Amino acid sequence: MASSFKAELTCSVCLDLFQDPVLTRCEHTFCRRCVLEFWSQQQRNMCPLCRKVCPSALLLRNRVLDGLLETLRQRDKVQLCSDHLLERSLYCPEDQELLCCQCRDSPRHRGHNVLAVADARARYKVRGGEGWGGVGERP
Ligand SMILES: [Zn+2]
Ligand SMILES: [Zn+2]
Ligand SMILES: [Zn+2]
Ligand SMILES: [Zn+2]
Repeated sequence: MASSFKAELTCSVCLDLFQDPVLTRCEHTFCRRCVLEFWSQQQRNMCPLCRKVCPSALLLRNRVLDGLLETLRQRDKVQLCSDHLLERSLYCPEDQELLCCQCRDSPRHRGHNVLAVADARARYKVRGGEGWGGVGERP
């Protein structure tokens, strides 16, 4: 699931994550610099994908993708849940796992004593940041 999410954010010209994504009139998205570079080698401004001509004035900033890219950056930073794309701010001592609030409400953790990460740190000596998998000791 994570990989397809990432695929949607990949530019078909540079095969990397979009930088400054723009939408052409034919509704294809590329990095701004990729389109402009492509066009600099052309007589006419054709879409790199479908070859339709697109006036450069009609390049629109792709705000939806901008938002998704921001989410992706945040996920790298704060450990977002890969299922729900929410911050994993909770801890389940039974499963020794970090959870988001939707994970907590799922049947898998029903009846588990789920805590805020900050409380869990104090109580179970959970170490911060890296190595959440090997939390180790139970109380
Ligand atoms: Zn690109
Ligand atoms: Zn196109
Ligand atoms: Zn979740
Ligand atoms: Zn649990």
